[in-house]
Amino acid sequence: MGVVMPDLIQSDPIPRKVDVVIIGGGIIGTCTALFLAEKGLQVALCEKGRIAGEQSGRNWGWVRQMGRSPEELPLAIESMRLWDGMNQRVGGETGFRRTGIMYYAENRTLQKEHEAWLDHAMKYQLPSRILSPDQMAELLPGMAIRPLSGLYTATDGRAEPHLAAPTIALGARAAGAHILTNCAVRTVEYSAGAISGVVTEAGPISCSTVVLCAGAWSRLFAGNMGVNIPQLKILSSAARIEGVTLPDMPVGAGDFAYRKRTDGGYTIARRNINPYPLTPDSFRLLPEFLPTILKSWREFSLTLNDRFWTEMRVARSWQSDEVTPFEQTRVLDPRPDEKLNYEGLANLRKNYPNMGEGRITHHWAGLVDVTPDAVPILSKVEEIPGFYLGTGMSGHGFGIGPGAGKLLAELVMGKSTCVDPTPFRFSRFTKGFVRNREPGHSKHQGSK
Ligand SMILES: Cc1cc2nc3c(=O)[nH]c(=O)nc-3n(C[C@H](O)[C@H](O)[C@H](O)COP(=O)(O)OP(=O)(O)OC[C@H]3O[C@@H](n4cnc5c(N)ncnc54)[C@H](O)[C@@H]3O)c2cc1C
Repeated sequence: MGVVMPDLIQSDPIPRKVDVVIIGGGIIGTCTALFLAEKGLQVALCEKGRIAGEQSGRNWGWVRQMGRSPEELPLAIESMRLWDGMNQRVGGETGFRRTGIMYYAENRTLQKEHEAWLDHAMKYQLPSRILSPDQMAELLPGMAIRPLSGLYTATDGRAEPHLAAPTIALGARAAGAHILTNCAVRTVEYSAGAISGVVTEAGPISCSTVVLCAGAWSRLFAGNMGVNIPQLKILSSAARIEGVTLPDMPVGAGDFAYRKRTDGGYTIARRNINPYPLTPDSFRLLPEFLPTILKSWREFSLTLNDRFWTEMRVARSWQSDEVTPFEQTRVLDPRPDEKLNYEGLANLRKNYPNMGEGRITHHWAGLVDVTPDAVPILSKVEEIPGFYLGTGMSGHGFGIGPGAGKLLAELVMGKSTCVDPTPFRFSRFTKGFVRNREPGHSKHQGSK
């Protein structure tokens, strides 16, 4: 049983010259392409596989402001505004609806966290509220568990992952962007110290600006340019169930989560357990990630599996005339943890004993790219003029995709920005740039 696949988008012919090349056709790349193309820039979006084939087509589909960190909240608020108008803007269906979202607080620690977040959110006049169990039951008919309280935001919502990025990509195409699928970017090229283009597997494209939105692949791609993005990957599994009736709004409890889908089913998951497959990068990046690991170790279960050996064998350096890891793995399709999905379903059933049969029709997983502070990188790379990063979305990039794309487009155009970009700057990782080789002149080290 595999992921419910995103709709296929056929590739445009490769253009010879554009203003901006975007690498990666997830929610961040497609939104960036849309906002740049709408402003009249010539854009080529290159996706090695399918639009939304990876994280952006595999996520839970929650679009929330609730629980966002102080750094991200303004971007989340801006994104909700953009989601509201997205269907009309792109002339298609993203599945976006404002349904509200509810979190459960089953213990006092969680309740205190909710209260602290609410204090912070009040500055932004969000309608978020702490609800009593009775108030929760009014909004969630059929719930049997009585948590201490709930945190509820009526203006949050959901969208449909297999529709959203493809629909936005088509909107970007209608605005003039070239959408290239099955088209991996191999290298960024330079002339007189400035970016002069990229080489894709289908040929070169001249450009002066490149935006890297490659999700779980960003660190590998940037590494070949001598740029060290501190980014690790966490496995997140989910399943589609059918044959149940549940409330409309997404709910996140301590040990389950669900969201109503537009195809009549629900996406469910076991919440708050994240298998973390060890890879060679886990050791390379240990100093950067150690504080996070120590703080949140309860949420992560370290696993040593074939992922370690798969990544060990991946080439970390290549030239433009070589087949790259991006062509070798068109779509990253990790094995889901089915046991966790069944656990999530069992916990959901305890909460809604009368929900119906609840049969799992699909299991899938995604590798979530995370930064040491769990805040995205939406930023220029100071040392390489014309090179931008839109990555490290840390497990919550779907909801803020539109805002992130708009911010990146504004940064590229040198315009005033919709939110303060400071929290997202790449330079906060002080060892970010390691010019260990000349850009474009990487030494091939072969597979390891
Ligand atoms: C199970 C799960 C549940 C989640 N739930 C939520 C949620 O409810 N709400 C939320 O906000 N977020 C959620 N997330 C996180 C969210 O899905 C991601 O943060 C977001 O989709 C990241 O988007 P992206 O565009 O950065 O990356 P991706 O969607 O991964 O896209 C990157 C793309 O780049 C392409 N690429 C890579 N290298 C190259 C190359 N060299 N050339 C061309 N193309 C390349 C890849 O093929 C890929 O398609 C969840 C994630 C998972 C896995």
